[in-house]
Amino acid sequence: MEVRAGETHALPRNELLRVKEPSKRKSMADKASKQPLNVPGAWYVDMTCTMCRTCLEEAPNLLKTNEDETAVYFLKQPENDAETAAAQRAMEVCPTLAIGNDG
Ligand code: SF4
Repeated sequence: MEVRAGETHALPRNELLRVKEPSKRKSMADKASKQPLNVPGAWYVDMTCTMCRTCLEEAPNLLKTNEDETAVYFLKQPENDAETAAAQRAMEVCPTLAIGNDG
């Protein structure tokens, strides 16, 4: 069911709960092949990154390209709810499922 902003009042309770529920998408990233440039912590980019740069728009304060632009990595781990949400969005938009969280 497609829901537009302001139309949630018309939804049955179970649908309303589904709309408000945060994403449960799990990463398929491989923690055994983390990009070595990642700062230590739960969030990481693995070696399947194709440098599409989509994630950089979602979490510009957390994700960065290296100098020769051959890799994307976490330069900083999320430290608050807003940053965690940004990391989650980056994970959700990654087309190769290269962003993971093993925390
Ligand atoms: S979205 Fe995924 S594939 Fe694209 S640059 Fe970010 S980590 Fe790499």
